[in-house]
Amino acid sequence: MKALITGGAGFIGSHLAEELLEQGHEVYLIDDLSTGSIENIEHLKNRKGFNYTIDTILNPSITAELVDKCDVVFHLAAAVGVMLIVESPVRTIETNIKGTEAILLHANKKKKKVIIASTSEVYGKSDQKSFREDGDLILGPTTKSRWSYACSKAIDEFLALAYWKEKNLPVVVIRLFNIVGPRQTGRYGMVIPRFVKQALLNHPITVFGDGKQSRCFSHVKDTVRALVKLSRTDEAVGEVINIGSDDEISIEELAKRIKTLTKSKSKIQYIPYSDAYEEGFEDMMRRVPDLGKIKKLIGHKSKHSLDDILKDVIEYYKSR
Ligand code: UDP
Repeated sequence: MKALITGGAGFIGSHLAEELLEQGHEVYLIDDLSTGSIENIEHLKNRKGFNYTIDTILNPSITAELVDKCDVVFHLAAAVGVMLIVESPVRTIETNIKGTEAILLHANKKKKKVIIASTSEVYGKSDQKSFREDGDLILGPTTKSRWSYACSKAIDEFLALAYWKEKNLPVVVIRLFNIVGPRQTGRYGMVIPRFVKQALLNHPITVFGDGKQSRCFSHVKDTVRALVKLSRTDEAVGEVINIGSDDEISIEELAKRIKTLTKSKSKIQYIPYSDAYEEGFEDMMRRVPDLGKIKKLIGHKSKHSLDDILKDVIEYYKSR
C-alpha cells in the first residue's frame, strides 16, 4: 500500500515510516519540522519507496496531492509535549484543530482511510482504575492551559467520528499512552528522555511533584506495529482504540530505575509542579489503559518490557 504520514519526521512518525518500509509499503511523509527533525529520517532517504515533503499540512495544494497519491493517511502531525503546550497554548490549539480539519477534508474527497493519532490525555482526571475507550473524559478548567491539549484532541476525535458517521469516511481514532523509544526528545517535557539525559550527565534527576504519580510506558516499535495492523483491520473503522502498555510505574520509581541502569551519580531532586510548569498546574495521578479492545481487534501484545525501553533509550543517548 501507499501510506501518507503527517508529522512523519517526528519521533513516532519516523518509526512508523521505518516499519511500513520494512513491510514493503511505499511511504510519503510530510512534516513542517516544527518539532520533528530531518535527522530522524536521514537514514531513510535512500530507501526504495521513501518520499518526503517538508511543508505544512495546511498548504492545501501539497496536502491534496499527497492524499490523492496514497491509500491511507496516518495523521500524526500535532503539537506535542506538556511543556510546549503550557508555554504555547495558541499554537497547540490551532495546530491540532486546523491540521485535523485539513486532513479530513482532503481525505474525504477521495474517501481515503485516515488513522487519527489522539492521546490518553483526553481521559483527563478520570479516576477509573483503567481507562476504557467508552469512559467519560474529565477535563479541568479552561483557565489551565494543559487541558487545551486534551480538549483540542477531543475535538479532533469528534470531527473524525463525525466524518465517519455523516459522510462514510473510514477513520480509526487511536489514543496513545506514553510512547517512548529512541529519537524521542526531552525538549518538550517527556520524562524518560529527560531522566536518561540527566542521569548520563550526572545532573540531578528532576522529579516533578512528589513522584507518586504513575504512568505506563510503551515502546514505539510495539506502537507502530499496532498502528499498521489496525490500519488494515476493517473492524477498527469508526472505533476509538487505546494503544499502550498496562505495566504501571511511579515517576519516583522510574527515576531510581534509570539511575541504577545508567550507574549514575545523579541525585534525585523533587521540584514543585508550579516551578516545573506553571502556577496551579494539574497533573494526572494515574493513567492506565484498558487494553481489552485492541487485544480483541488484533490480539496485540507488547514485545518490549519497560527495561527494554529504558535500555534502548540509554543506548540511543550514549551513542550521541
Ligand atoms: N515528569 C517529571 N520530571 C520531568 C518530566 C516529567 O517528573 O522532568 C513527570 C510529569 O510531571 C508527569 C510524568 O513525569 O507526571 C510523565 O510526564 P510526560 O510529560 O512524559 O508525559 P504525560 O504527562 O503526558 O504523561
